[in-house]
Amino acid sequence: MARSEKAGGDVRRTGLFGQTRMTLYASRETHACVRRAAEVLGLGSGSLRLLPVDADFRVDVGALRAAIARDRAEGLRPFCVVGNAGTVNTGAVDDLEALADVAEQEGLWFHVDGAFGALAALSPRLRPLLRGMERADSLAFDLHKWMHIPFEAGCILVRSEAAHRRAFAYQTEYLAQMPRGLAARPSMFSEYGVQLTRGFRALKVWMSLKAHGAAKFARLIEQNVEQAHALARWVDAEPELQRLAPASLNVVCFRYVGRGVPEERLDAWNRELLCRLHESGVAVPSYTTLGGRHCLRVCLTNHRTRREDLEFLVQEILRLGRELSAELEAKSV
Ligand SMILES: *Cc1c(COP(=O)(O)O)cnc(C)c1O
Repeated sequence: MARSEKAGGDVRRTGLFGQTRMTLYASRETHACVRRAAEVLGLGSGSLRLLPVDADFRVDVGALRAAIARDRAEGLRPFCVVGNAGTVNTGAVDDLEALADVAEQEGLWFHVDGAFGALAALSPRLRPLLRGMERADSLAFDLHKWMHIPFEAGCILVRSEAAHRRAFAYQTEYLAQMPRGLAARPSMFSEYGVQLTRGFRALKVWMSLKAHGAAKFARLIEQNVEQAHALARWVDAEPELQRLAPASLNVVCFRYVGRGVPEERLDAWNRELLCRLHESGVAVPSYTTLGGRHCLRVCLTNHRTRREDLEFLVQEILRLGRELSAELEAKSV
C-alpha cells in the first residue's frame, strides 16, 4: 500500500522500472520482515535505511530526519517510515508520536510493526506506552503471540480503505459482482491483499474473544509485563547476572557474568549456558545479541507462566553458570 500510494505514477502497472529509487526507514532493531518486504516489493534491501538507536533501543529520531534529508538531497524518494511497538530483541517501543510527526511533515507512509507489542493496547494501564500508534497508516500485529491464538493469525489494520483497495483490488469477469445471489457480496477480502483463496483465520480470534472477553487478555498481558519486571529486579539483584536492556514490556535480556569472568569470554559462556539450559529441559528462553553481547532473552507471552517458574529459572541459570566456572577452573589447573 505504501509503495502504491507513494510511488509516482501507476506503480502497479509499470512496476519500479525507471522509477526514482524509493527509500524507507526503520531502526536497526527492526525485525527482518521489513527487509524481506523491501526485497519482495522490488525496492531492494539497499533502499532500507537502518537507523541507530538510543541506550533504550528506541530509534534515533534525529538520525531519521538526517537520513531523509540526505536521501532527498541525492534525489531519492523517501516514502515510508516503520516504527516499532515492541521490538523483537528487547520489546522497546519507538517514540511513535515523534515518528508520526516526521511522517506527516515529510509526507511519508507511517507503518507500525506491533507484532506482539500492539496488543498491550488492550490494557488501559499499558496503553500509554504505545502513544502515537493510533496515528499509523498501517499497523501489523500477531494474534498468535500475545493473544494465545493457535498459529497463525497475523492481522493488519489500514487507515484508508481507499488506499488499501487501490493497492490490491482488480476486476475479473469470473469474480464480478452480481446483483443478487451468492455473488452479490459487498466486497471480497482478495481486494485487500495478495491472497485470493484464504482460510477463515478470524473465526478462531472471534471465538476466543467471545469466550474469554478482551478484558481477560488485557489482564494476562499485564501479568506477563509484571512478571518481566519482577524477573528484571531479580536479575539486577544478582551480582553474577547482568541485564543488557530495559524491560519496558515483556522481554528481559540478560547474561551470566559470574565473578570477574573476562569480557571476551562471556559470549562463549552464555552460548554454552543456553545450550545446557535448553538440553536440561528446565526452560527454553530465546537469545539475541545486543551491542555485540550475546545474551539470554526471556520473552513472556504465556498465560501459564508463574513467578515461581521465573525464580526457578534464575536459580538454574546461576547453578549452570557456577557449574561452568568450576569446569573451566578445573581445566586450567
Ligand atoms: C514475531 C515478529 C515478527 C514476525 O512475525 P510472524 O508474523 O510470526 O512472522 C515481526 N516483527 C516483530 C516485532 C515480531 O516480534
